[in-house]
Amino acid sequence: SLAVARRRSAELEERIRREPGSFRVLTGDRPTGPLHLGHYFGTLRNRVRLQDAGVETFVLVADYQVLTDRDVAERQAETVEELLLDHLAVGIDPERSVIFAHSAVPALNQLLLPFLSLVSVAELQRNPTVKDEIAHSRQSAVSGLMFTYPVHQAADILFCKANLVPVGQDQLPHLEVTRTVARRFDDRYGPVFPVPDALLSEAPLLLGTDGTKMSKSRGNSIALGATADATAKLIKGARTDAERHITYDPEHRPEVSSLVLLAALCEGGDPHAVAEEIGGGAAALKRRVTESVNTFMAPMRARRAAYAKDRTYLREVLRSGNERAGAVAEATLAEVRQAMGTHY
Ligand code: ATP
Ligand code: MG
Repeated sequence: SLAVARRRSAELEERIRREPGSFRVLTGDRPTGPLHLGHYFGTLRNRVRLQDAGVETFVLVADYQVLTDRDVAERQAETVEELLLDHLAVGIDPERSVIFAHSAVPALNQLLLPFLSLVSVAELQRNPTVKDEIAHSRQSAVSGLMFTYPVHQAADILFCKANLVPVGQDQLPHLEVTRTVARRFDDRYGPVFPVPDALLSEAPLLLGTDGTKMSKSRGNSIALGATADATAKLIKGARTDAERHITYDPEHRPEVSSLVLLAALCEGGDPHAVAEEIGGGAAALKRRVTESVNTFMAPMRARRAAYAKDRTYLREVLRSGNERAGAVAEATLAEVRQAMGTHY
């Protein structure tokens, strides 16, 4: 549950402070569109913080996963470049962190086969995030990939023996699948994999301008690379409620509260205090949020624009990341085959 995951995250933070060298991070995103503030406060900021604390960090571009809820992936090369730009803009350093696309790492994908043998169809059918994604799917029919992608995700995480996965709340059920796969593999074949932990941020589920999960695919998100004007327009059109006074009450006033939270996160303040300062009116709230978001994002947007000029560099970052991830995956696959007795 969320409360348990939050408590566990607090304990992990303590251990990370003491011994950053005992952790390895893997996390990533689907190249389905520009990253947004939900990504930033939900996971990107943690990625950068962990990298800077000296934790070895792998960032996955989950390109096969695009095909879980749509029939074809359009403009993939461009979308992947934009994803790289978002990471460079927020402070991921390709010298220290490995950024790679899983489609370019054959040994990682091969782990899917033994892993699939470790889970039941009933377990896959029960996954709440998969159910929700099927409900929002643009696909003509639910594919086998949709049902099995949490197991593919286990391969994504375990290929590098990551033990820490900074994610948003929607990913918690998937991480359970990975934990199960790691445990069962080790029970059956001997110790190869760690059982990884999710690391939640202080904003594990940021809502978008319509009051539902801010999501690339739902047209309700403020992209990291959006202009200040586009940001103002989006926030102006955000859903609020009829009450005159602004309060921070996520349970009863999700739309207003998510806007207050956004301002508070950007300002590094407390949402209750921010709500009180704003006082009355949706217009005042929106002015405050726009100002805070645009001020906070300005340096990242400037860095993003600078990196965007050098497409050759972006391609080189990915090529080198694929190569480094490939070597790690080969080594793990060799261990897996040894453990399974298939190392002929
Ligand atoms: P899509 O709609 O295409 O699935 P998405 O916005 O859900 O896109 P993902 O690539 O699926 O983005 O998620 C990448 C990571 O960002 C995951 O760890 C996810 O939990 C996190 N994340 C995505 N949206 C939010 C959000 N609104 N709040 C907090 N974390 C989020
Ligand atoms: Mg998603």
